[in-house]
Amino acid sequence: MHPREQTIFALSSGRPPSAIAIVRLSGPLAGTVMASLAGKKLVPRMAARVLLHDANLLPIDDAVVLWFPGPASATGEDVAEFHVHGGRAVLAALFSAFSTFENVRAAEPGEFTRRAFENGKLDLTEAEGLDDLIRADTDRQRRQALRHLKGMLGDRVRDWRAQIIEAAALIEAGIDFSDEGDVPSELIGPALARIRVLLSEIQEVLAAQGKSERLREGLVVTIAGPPNVGKSTLMNQLARREVAIVSPHAGTTRDVIEVQLDLDGYPVTVIDTAGIRDTEDPVEQEGVRRARARAAEADLVLWLVDAEQESLREGAAPVWVVRNKIDLYAGKSHKAGSAIDLAAAAQCGVSSGRGGDEADFGISARRGDGIAELIEALVGFAQEYFGSGEGGLIGRERQRKLLQETALSLDRSISVVGKGEELAAEELRMAVHSLGRLLGRIDVENILEVIFRDFCIGK
Ligand code: GDP
Repeated sequence: MHPREQTIFALSSGRPPSAIAIVRLSGPLAGTVMASLAGKKLVPRMAARVLLHDANLLPIDDAVVLWFPGPASATGEDVAEFHVHGGRAVLAALFSAFSTFENVRAAEPGEFTRRAFENGKLDLTEAEGLDDLIRADTDRQRRQALRHLKGMLGDRVRDWRAQIIEAAALIEAGIDFSDEGDVPSELIGPALARIRVLLSEIQEVLAAQGKSERLREGLVVTIAGPPNVGKSTLMNQLARREVAIVSPHAGTTRDVIEVQLDLDGYPVTVIDTAGIRDTEDPVEQEGVRRARARAAEADLVLWLVDAEQESLREGAAPVWVVRNKIDLYAGKSHKAGSAIDLAAAAQCGVSSGRGGDEADFGISARRGDGIAELIEALVGFAQEYFGSGEGGLIGRERQRKLLQETALSLDRSISVVGKGEELAAEELRMAVHSLGRLLGRIDVENILEVIFRDFCIGK
């Protein structure tokens, strides 16, 4: 039997042990397996408490089970859901009972969602939204993912695609007429007008987008500066704050290289370049390699200096000068931020959220003075970077690229129509193709491999 026709199972809830574990079974044998384990047939969509047995009638667990006959199920196939006690041995016994059935096997990552997609339960933008929702750490990530899962991009794309197909049909009808002379302008005119409207709608979505696809990965801020200015101390200070949502990825037990902060719903990763050092440990090396690569692409650099030092640094990313150890110089006034740093920040459209000559920061990483203000300014930076609007329709680079391709094809169709309607019609077909890829109607195999491979097992 082809693997795609086999019945698959997986743990869909979190890592055991847990109070309850949810195991799903999807495919043609789901009903048979469930009835066999439960010892009776179940009423669709009604929770039932049963004592599950294996083939030798030995008890597995006291469970709550649900039966969702396809196609009205999450995957579109027959689905059985087992709510068992979340112990490892319980799960092992349940999985081994499943495996005694031929053509029942453990699911691959993302395989449930893939089947849902293949059965038309979701389009690709919705499947991507589902994956993002599961991975969302912050509230804004959650809201954006939910918009995708609810099909907000997919619905727009389907509407655009239908309209382009209609416009193309008008132009092609015109071409058919053209044996009898010029293509009737009463067909081409309305088609072109419609394409112009569509083009401006798509361009609006692209422009209004800000950088919201970066919400998935978050902003990267690095802490850099000369040795001994207190970079690691600042990092530890940040990691200790309540805002640190994810346990710091420690490169070693000594140093925190990266912490992830939830700044008003925006995910921000702070990297301590002092923590990046050469090491023999292969696991640590991988962490260091990743931190280096990410630091190189920082969206913002916090350039730490000793409060008494004069220090400038120029780079691609905006730079904020942070003067540390102000506790040592209490009473003395520290110097204002340099013009170059401010200009660099301004060039990148960044404002620290603080006014004029106050634009650098004075902190004591050791005592915690000024840290709240620094965090507040980082929130302002994130707000400005992502744009405050809720309107982000595009969640991934893949989606943005395909929309850009669509806009280009539409634009070309307008400009080539004078040279021949066939050329315009061909461009419109390309636009339809790009939108089809966005929804996952075309090139399905290739895209699916890439997208679903990153899914969790059990999804
Ligand atoms: P790094 O090399 O930039 O990571 O610097 P560290 O964080 O290791 O700090 C170097 C030294 O400066 C340590 O002894 C810290 O305790 C000290 N230090 C860091 N921040 C402060 C501060 O705000 N005030 C004072 N007085 N000392 C600090």
